[in-house]
Amino acid sequence: MDYSSWIPQLPLRAESTIELTPQMAKMLVDAQDHFHKKKALRLDPFILTRTQRFENGFPVRKGCQVYVQPNKYQMGQELFYTEYDNTRICTRCQQTFYVESDGYQPTADHPICIDSEGGYNFHIHTQLPVEHLKTFKKADKVDEYNRRKTGRVYALDVESVYTSHGQEVGRVTVVDDRGEAVLDLFVKPKAHIYDYVTKYSGLTPDFLNYATETLESARQKILNLINRESILIGHALNGDLLKLGILHSRVIDTSILFANSGRRPSLRSLTSSYLNRNIQQSTYGHCSMEDAVACVDLVNFALRNPTLISKDFHKSNNSL
Ligand SMILES: [Zn+2]
Repeated sequence: MDYSSWIPQLPLRAESTIELTPQMAKMLVDAQDHFHKKKALRLDPFILTRTQRFENGFPVRKGCQVYVQPNKYQMGQELFYTEYDNTRICTRCQQTFYVESDGYQPTADHPICIDSEGGYNFHIHTQLPVEHLKTFKKADKVDEYNRRKTGRVYALDVESVYTSHGQEVGRVTVVDDRGEAVLDLFVKPKAHIYDYVTKYSGLTPDFLNYATETLESARQKILNLINRESILIGHALNGDLLKLGILHSRVIDTSILFANSGRRPSLRSLTSSYLNRNIQQSTYGHCSMEDAVACVDLVNFALRNPTLISKDFHKSNNSL
């Protein structure tokens, strides 16, 4: 299979032929910083309040611990499991099933998990170990070395696969506020992969067999791009930040910005309605690059069309 046509490529930049003096270069950098900060100020009203983050399932700090409240779509679901809990709830067939003491789920020799598309020899779950909450990291505070990152805007998207120990991150993509690729990392899951869920993740063995990133190294690369005042955009970003173990307060979520009567619309439907663009059409599955770019474009659309922003968002975010 030839993936070369749709593997995202970094756009080529025209090489500058002008020799810049150090003074001119500094002026250029200052002008760029000013531009980014000005643009970020326009996005301020879209940034979720702490209450909005809490209610929508974002990781938040509560006292000295990280806490995640299930959002209304996750009510009744267990997001985490403890060390002594060997029960899991299958997100495909809703059955309770059992795993071994280290969390390992062996595959059966016959289908045990049935949905409308077929039968599988294993169940799937998205629960995380409760210890994961102790591993969260934040970007650095603003200081003289990273102040240029203040107001920088990035969109983030994560794709996952199913393993013998549950769901794990397989790809992390970050684009800047012009939709240009900044990071596109293939992450090697720690456990044995049972299902690449290619239809959704776009991932196949070709991508992950030689992946060298770990979840921790991918997370560090994201944190290196930003400081605490940078803005992260995503669609249902709460799930991505939860999986990555990132605590960040300056976030914009297109599924909340354009919520409709309390429902969070899909990225595909928003992109089709507002951008006249069909995404997630590929037979090779979703592409995190395409999804991240769609988030940036939707936020720019919201800037140009503030009346189309959800009334729910206006109500719960009194900065508008
Ligand atoms: Zn199942």
